[in-house]
Amino acid sequence: MKTEVLSGKGLAGMIRERAQDEARQLELRGVHPVLAVVVATDDESTLWYVRSIERSAGRAGIGCRIVDIGPDATEQVLAGVLRDLSAEASVNGIILQTPLPSGVRADNLVGLIAPHKDIDGANPLSLGRLAVGQPAFAPATARSVVEILDHFEVPTAGRNVVVVGRSAVVGKPLSLLLLAKDATVTICHSRTGELEPFTRAADVVVVAAGRTGLLTGSHVSEKTVVVDVGTNVLPDGSLVGDVDAASVSGVAAALTPVPGGVGSVTTALLLLHTTEAARQQAGVLGRPLAAGVA
Ligand code: NAP
Repeated sequence: MKTEVLSGKGLAGMIRERAQDEARQLELRGVHPVLAVVVATDDESTLWYVRSIERSAGRAGIGCRIVDIGPDATEQVLAGVLRDLSAEASVNGIILQTPLPSGVRADNLVGLIAPHKDIDGANPLSLGRLAVGQPAFAPATARSVVEILDHFEVPTAGRNVVVVGRSAVVGKPLSLLLLAKDATVTICHSRTGELEPFTRAADVVVVAAGRTGLLTGSHVSEKTVVVDVGTNVLPDGSLVGDVDAASVSGVAAALTPVPGGVGSVTTALLLLHTTEAARQQAGVLGRPLAAGVA
């Protein structure tokens, strides 16, 4: 059977256009949306990713301030930076970029990002609000999966959705978003044992484990829609997901590619979340903030 490729590129372009349009509307009211990205690493691929956010923001008319405090930054310095940015009126959105210097714990820092500027849903308060169905920013990656399913009209209400991975940044918030869309959600993790009985019975499988080749053709059926969140860099520098795309292709109904799937939509959503945060902070009327909750 032919497996449909669910590219995220078209959707990402549409979301970027929406962010650009929102930024234009805000500018007309004298509001200039600004995203701050706090960086404390010399990891080249991370720095490349941050520069790509900066370029996309620039094209959408959104300010992007890279706050690079170097790979030797202490937790105390990072905490001070996050407190300052949270208090600064000209900054609307804040991302604390990982990886952080060794010994620095993200858990101790993300709670310092003001919830109304937490455009990547990192503060545990944002996750808590998602859990009880209150408006909050979901992590962009988690929302990206839901946007892709909506865009390709993959039904979730009453369907069995398996999420592989239970991290606070992807698996858990995604499960909450899917639950809010009336899916019957099963969360698998490293102690689940055999994934096959769960994934083969599912209508949708989302894999967010960070394990190359975790999901193969034997894990899916002809009805399965597979969303690959994983990003793994191979020794030759190429990027692959968690899904063995070659073996899943021809078996599953549909599959998102890596690269060009979830990741491209994620970056676009960070921009859209920044405009939503700016609009809310400026008290400008428009679509109500319900970034995470469907
Ligand atoms: P993480 O914090 O390392 O969590 C990985 C999760 O996968 C954990 O819950 C872990 O289970 C589970 N897991 C690991 N091995 C497994 C196995 N063999 N079988 C079943 N479950 C397994 O990673 P993360 O931050 O959630 O990220 C997950 C992946 O998504 C990574 O590849 C990351 O690079 C990618 N990602 C992509 C984007 C994007 O925009 N495309 C954004 C963020 C992350 P335990 O809880 O039991 O350890």
